[in-house]
Amino acid sequence: RSTDVTVLGLGAMGSALATALLDAGRSVTVWNRTPGRAAQSVARGARAAGSVREAVTASPVVVTCLLRYPSIQETLAPVAGELRGRTLVNLTTTTPNESRDLAVWAAGHGADHLDGAIMAVPDMIRSREGQIFYSGSRAAYDILLPTLEIWATSEFHGEDAGRAALLDLAMLSGMYQMFTGFFHGAAMVATMGMSASEFAARQAPFLSAMTHGLAGYAKVVDGGDHTGPGLQSLDFSDLSHLVRASEEQGVDPAPIAAVQALISRQIAAGHGAEGFTRIYESLRLVGSAA
Ligand code: NDP
Repeated sequence: RSTDVTVLGLGAMGSALATALLDAGRSVTVWNRTPGRAAQSVARGARAAGSVREAVTASPVVVTCLLRYPSIQETLAPVAGELRGRTLVNLTTTTPNESRDLAVWAAGHGADHLDGAIMAVPDMIRSREGQIFYSGSRAAYDILLPTLEIWATSEFHGEDAGRAALLDLAMLSGMYQMFTGFFHGAAMVATMGMSASEFAARQAPFLSAMTHGLAGYAKVVDGGDHTGPGLQSLDFSDLSHLVRASEEQGVDPAPIAAVQALISRQIAAGHGAEGFTRIYESLRLVGSAA
């Protein structure tokens, strides 16, 4: 028989998760801090619990999809005694250490713990485009796979509960810096009257083409030799002209100045003839002489 599931948190993502389970014919109990947000799930067949305790005790699997780590503690700590023998699947975004702390806390209360990081927006849940990374209890992952697969393609990343969160946040770091780079460029061209939409029409295909370079850069980083032929040297990649152009246009150069700072550090350390990939070493060795 399929597993009953409780979903705590009916924000945009929690609602999408609960709805997907209901659409797949699962028995779902829902709870949300602010009453009233359960209406949509209830209309599709969910049972609305009147309290966290009632919600947690309703199912062997308890999913948290709250805002940040403190909201998980705030919600679950008062009912910790009810977790024994259940599986806690946390899909709230947390840092790796927060996920590890949660694993230890859950184990201390006799619960199995699986930590998930959702690489999707709510609309992508159930569409198969989305992915969810998991880490923590392998046994829980194996047992729950048919349920997890209702939401998205699942990937298990190991028993260290922090690994899924680490991979998630690393992915988001790249994404946010790409978007910030776009905003910076948009602010630059705005000074000549170009709209962000006009700029996006050019920037999107350009960035898309540039992502083909990632695999090549990755090989160099993995190999650790930044001197290979075909690599643009740091002296060549020096971006001070880009920083200057931004300043000349009255646009804050902060995003590109951060890149230039990494380059400058490697040039100052005598690595100017090596490839642009060398800035990876600036990142890795923060706190020590690069
Ligand atoms: P929403 O802002 O839509 O919902 C937040 C939810 O958290 C609400 O149910 C809210 O309850 C609840 N909440 C906040 N603080 C507390 C608290 N102290 N105690 C109890 N409940 C609390 O966010 P999302 O649904 O979009 O996101 C939920 C999680 O999913 C986040 O960790 C997010 O990072 C992650 N996620 C979201 C994605 C997205 O695209 N939306 C993508 C990937 C991950 P209330 O209604 O009472 O305020």
